Formats: sequence, structure tokens, C-alpha cells
Amino acid sequence: MKESPLIYLDYNATTPVAPEAARVLSRYLEEDFGNPGSDYGLGKRAKDAVARARGQVAALLSCRPNEVVFTGGATEANNTVLKGVARHFGQGQIITAATEHPSVLAPLSFLQSQGFQVTILPVDAFGRLDPDAVRRALTPRTILVSVMHANNETGTLQPVAAIARLAREAGVLCHTDAAQSVGKIPVSPAALQVDFLTVAGHKLYAPKGVGALYVRAGAPFIPLLHGGGQEGGRRSGTENVPHLAALGEACRLAGARLTQDPARLRSLRDRLHQLLQAGFPGLVLNGPAEERLPNTLNVSFPGLSGAAILAGVPRVAASLGAACHGAEETTSPVLAAMGVPPEVARGVLRLSVGRPTTREDIEEAAALLLARVRELLR
Ligand code: PLP
Repeated sequence: MKESPLIYLDYNATTPVAPEAARVLSRYLEEDFGNPGSDYGLGKRAKDAVARARGQVAALLSCRPNEVVFTGGATEANNTVLKGVARHFGQGQIITAATEHPSVLAPLSFLQSQGFQVTILPVDAFGRLDPDAVRRALTPRTILVSVMHANNETGTLQPVAAIARLAREAGVLCHTDAAQSVGKIPVSPAALQVDFLTVAGHKLYAPKGVGALYVRAGAPFIPLLHGGGQEGGRRSGTENVPHLAALGEACRLAGARLTQDPARLRSLRDRLHQLLQAGFPGLVLNGPAEERLPNTLNVSFPGLSGAAILAGVPRVAASLGAACHGAEETTSPVLAAMGVPPEVARGVLRLSVGRPTTREDIEEAAALLLARVRELLR
């Protein structure tokens, strides 16, 4: 008998590479494999591919191509901003929120060990940071505010524009980690009024290990990597042409789909929520109902273990929290920061839908998860 296919509901952990992006990837891996720094035709084609990709990322972000710096993913982009701004100023205070991704919190903890002052602000029960708390935390020593656009576990959208406005009024730089929002909803650094914005390839149907950093023209930072001066001296190293080209294509596709995808994903996500709620009336939604990524559903089955639920439903690929925490039975730091009680946080499932998700996937996943919940309650 054929094995039933996996129902993948973990698009916030990673996405498959879009077929269009995979075709571009393959072309620059196998055919136009030149070094963009070479003067002959093969090199020129690679150089053109990088320029095209830069334009495609810039078009999705509504920014200028020279404001896009390609990186080896969102972790590198976040490290570049945090360490790069810190090195530029040499000392001072950095403000962030308790629910940030480890690729922000860990470099900040490193910078703290190097003498920088790091202020980690608490969030409310929905995971939202109050702009007023940022206003109160700003001091004459503040050099940077870094607040994520959308949370990877709950989908909570932060009031980044309001926070960035306060930073700007205080003459302070502002960064947002938009790894989870770019491609899922319209995102523009100009609208958010930020100086730096992080993009992750593998959350928007491009390959893993590639990303981008928007740097507002003139925003100061010291690069992480010094070498051949690629990326305008902001990120040295021979360009990863196949991955950059695939990221560009994925951004083009995402932009073209932004008019219909969010509404479709929201409807699938809400249907899943509705079905789980109907089968388990005590279900708790972690995060806000509205100000949230359209594809993300973070729910708790109080009194049960999320790990135990998933262990009994191998056909459904979902997670308990951030993918980097795997299936450990530790309370998610994000939920803890939101004040979710441990017995509720223990019953968490992070479900995130994506482009390939179908209505049938949702109905089937809900039925499988609820059957397992009933089994655990027996
Ligand atoms: N920031 C956020 C909000 C994320 O969700 C992720 C990925 O999980 C990252 C940064 C890091 O991305 P990567 O591991 O691809 O560098």
C-alpha cells in the first residue's frame, strides 16, 4: 500500500524552492557558472544575473537596487547590522524586544559581553511591543533599535513604523528583522521608515543559506566580511550567483502573487483554527487574532503536550515553536515572554500554511490532530 503523503504545515520553518526559482538556480549552477568578476562573456552573464536579482529584491521591497546587500541568510543579515552598527559607534545602548529570534538575541548577548548596553523590552500578552516602552528606553547613549516585523512562532506583527518614527526623532538607527514577513505580506523599508531590514530566502520559496539586507543609503555600519569588496564593499566574497538569482526570481514571484496569496492563506489558516476549535473548545490562540501573519496559527491545547500530539501524528509536519528549538519539551521563550502559563505553553502547536497547502490538507490535518488529542484525553 502506498504511504499517505506528508501534510506539511511548517512553512515558517522553511519553504520548498519554487519551481521557477529552482530552474534559475540550475541554470547558474550548471551553465552560466562564471565569476561575476570575470571580464569575458560567462562572467558578464553572471554579473548580469546578480544585477537582475538585486533589482528583483529591490522591486519587492520598493527600494533602490544599491540599497540591497546580499547575504548568506537572515542570521548573517542580523549579525551584520547588530555588530556592524555597534562597531561603527564603538559603544552605546541597543534596544530590542524579548520575543526576537536567536539570530538577534545571541549577537546582542555577545555585544553585551563586549561592553555594549542591551535593553530587552517586555511584550504584552499578544507578543506586541508598546512603542511607548521604546520611547521610555531611549537615552542619549542609544545607537540602535532592533525590532522584528513578524514573529516566527506566533506571526505577531510589531508596530515597526511607530517604533522607527520614535527612533528617527531621537536620531537613532532602526533595524527590523523581516525574515518572516517579506513575501507573505507587502513589506517596504520606506513605509516602515527603517534604516536596515533583513530578508530570508528560504521563507519565501528561495533556497536556504541566502538572504538580503536592505541598507538605507548612507546608513552607517562596519561590514562583517572584508575581502574583495563585493556588494559595494559591504559584504565581501564571490557572489553566490545561483542562490542570488534564485532569490531574485522568488522575490519576483512573491511580488506577483501578493495580491492573491495572503487572502487564500488566511482563509486556509482560519479554517484550520475553526476546525481545531470546534473539536477542542478549550483551544487557546497564542498571538493576536488580527495583527498577525496571514499564514500562521499558534494554538495551545491546555493540559496536553504539543510534543505528544505531534509524536502521534507523523503525517503532519508542524512544530512546537522555532525550528531551531526542534521538538524539545522546553517552554518557548516567545510564549514565556507573552506570559503564557507553562501548562498552556506545553500544549502548543505552531502551524503555518504555504503556497502548496490545499483545503484537503487542512481538513485532513485537523481530523488527524483531533483524533490524537482525543486519544491523549482518554
Ligand atoms: N529571523 C527570523 C524571524 C527567523 O524566523 C529566522 C529563521 O528561522 C531567522 C531570522 C534566521 O534565518 P536563517 O536561519 O535562515 O539565517
